[in-house]
Amino acid sequence: MTASYDSVIRGAKVLTPEGLLDLDVGIAGGRIAALLPRGEGNATITIDGSGQHLLPGAIDIHFHVRAPAFPERGTVESETRAAAAGGVTTLFEMPISKPCCNSAERVEIRRAHFAEHAFINFGLYAAPGDLTDTSVEAMRAAGIVAFKIFTTVAPEGRDDEFFGLSFPDEGDQLRALKAAAKTGLPIVVHAESAQIIAAGEADLVGRDLADADTHLDARPAMAEAVAVAKLLTMNIAARAKLHIAHVTSALTVDVLRRFAGTSDFSAETCPHYLFRTHDDVRKAGVFAKINPPVRNQSDQDALWQAIADGIITHVTTDHAAFSFADKQASIANWLNAPPGTPGSEILLPSMLDAVAQGKVTLEQAMALLSGNAADRFSLAGKGRIAVGADADLVLVDMAGTTEITPQTLFTHARDVAQLYYGARFACRVTQTLVAGRTVFDGGIVGEAGWGRYTSPSTTTRAASAAMRA
Ligand SMILES: [Zn+2]
Repeated sequence: MTASYDSVIRGAKVLTPEGLLDLDVGIAGGRIAALLPRGEGNATITIDGSGQHLLPGAIDIHFHVRAPAFPERGTVESETRAAAAGGVTTLFEMPISKPCCNSAERVEIRRAHFAEHAFINFGLYAAPGDLTDTSVEAMRAAGIVAFKIFTTVAPEGRDDEFFGLSFPDEGDQLRALKAAAKTGLPIVVHAESAQIIAAGEADLVGRDLADADTHLDARPAMAEAVAVAKLLTMNIAARAKLHIAHVTSALTVDVLRRFAGTSDFSAETCPHYLFRTHDDVRKAGVFAKINPPVRNQSDQDALWQAIADGIITHVTTDHAAFSFADKQASIANWLNAPPGTPGSEILLPSMLDAVAQGKVTLEQAMALLSGNAADRFSLAGKGRIAVGADADLVLVDMAGTTEITPQTLFTHARDVAQLYYGARFACRVTQTLVAGRTVFDGGIVGEAGWGRYTSPSTTTRAASAAMRA
């Protein structure tokens, strides 16, 4: 008898849009070909999913490896392997690189580099660069997933990484929103007021910069909330598809709530804001320096409430690979230390742990990690388990444990993950499939170059642009 499918996953509880069902899943040509009653169908490869949950692979819409620059911090290979180990099947790489990804030409260079090295699917952000219609349209045509800007100034000495990406001037922010709106693509903003941060940093004179509190004091929640309020005000006129990156504070949640319905915006937060507080950061030292900063318990509580209320609809890693030497060089200086922490092996385990704790349902968790990303960024065939969808899947043992130590992590940045050392999450990623092929099964079994370039579907994007016109 000839096999009907390339492979079939048997015995798992499958999370479908209709809920968690006892089904077998037939895969052919990299897609989900059939949802089968138990034991039906036949395939060349049988994957045993008994006792496990089969979930849509996570789509991490906020990821930094900076490649091909800075290989000492991690490479596309090392960081996409780590993402696969964390159950992430698609990531969106941010445009900070050396030089900044701010033109169609740079997009093509990075696309070629990722296409050669990625173990999982990848989308690329671009900085809007010179903001001319020709340039932003060329980047859209190159298949980017969205634009990204910062409202902060470039960190000292890193101007070329942030050229056409940092827009501390509000006039420029408005121009960037309008430029993105014309393309129909979303624009993602790292929103903190450059002016309030400058004032906060000026106030640090005489303080001991080895003290973690200086970081929180220089970048208060107010800096984030002011920047977000201004962007949301501008977006009433600019009508961009605006996405606020890594929301950290109760104050900003309040701003998002007040602006609900005034324009098309969405917001994300990250596991470090949901599972860690400033006390944890203080213990971990500059390794846990992240911008915007991890704040206090009341902020964390507000973020969970915002998730429950649908104000925050995405959870992302903001995975940032730095080397131990990068962080160590600024061990006594919170102002200069490079911001960011690796998170791709934390994302899914931490959110499934939240499911075990009853903070969110499994359906909510996977919408936050996958389904909502596919919808917001117009990724056809991703984000849910259904016939015809891409076979980007993860098998999880919900009774297992994920322990985070430098030895268990796959990321090249495993020695700067101090914020999570010792963490134990109730669940374990056992197998990750990208386009129907197993890339992780406890160890990495995938292949560099297997990951596909992921672009917004033109039909859904055109429809949303037409609605905006
Ligand atoms: Zn980031």
